[in-house]
Amino acid sequence: MKSYRKELWFCTKNRVDFIHITEEVQRAVVESGIREGLCLVNAMHITASVFINDNEPGLHEDYKEWLEKLAPYTPSLYRHNHTGEDNGDAHLKRQVMGREVVVAITNGQLDLGPWERIFYGEFDGMRRKRVLIKIIGE
Ligand code: ZN
Repeated sequence: MKSYRKELWFCTKNRVDFIHITEEVQRAVVESGIREGLCLVNAMHITASVFINDNEPGLHEDYKEWLEKLAPYTPSLYRHNHTGEDNGDAHLKRQVMGREVVVAITNGQLDLGPWERIFYGEFDGMRRKRVLIKIIGE
């Protein structure tokens, strides 16, 4: 069995941001040389997510509004911020949007559904953060 590891680094312009990363993940699959296997993609930070959904800007704005209703930024709302941080909301947003995705690799390609695309979700951005790609197979 072969394995391949790669990190993607991000520094978003906005505190909350979504970045389409399907092409970068597919590039890693090609670099790995693996034709049949599994590809794990996970955020390495507890205030960021990796998720799969539609590449449709309206939906992404809907996510942002919905998450802001669930967990508004307002620092005074969160016990976590008694530590001196201001990112209590970002930890909760990350939990809802998930840590990672696993995608099958078939014939050297990400085996995604017709509308499935992979995104990095940032909830406490404007600093360098990373995503891990780990691919196993043969
Ligand atoms: Zn925190």
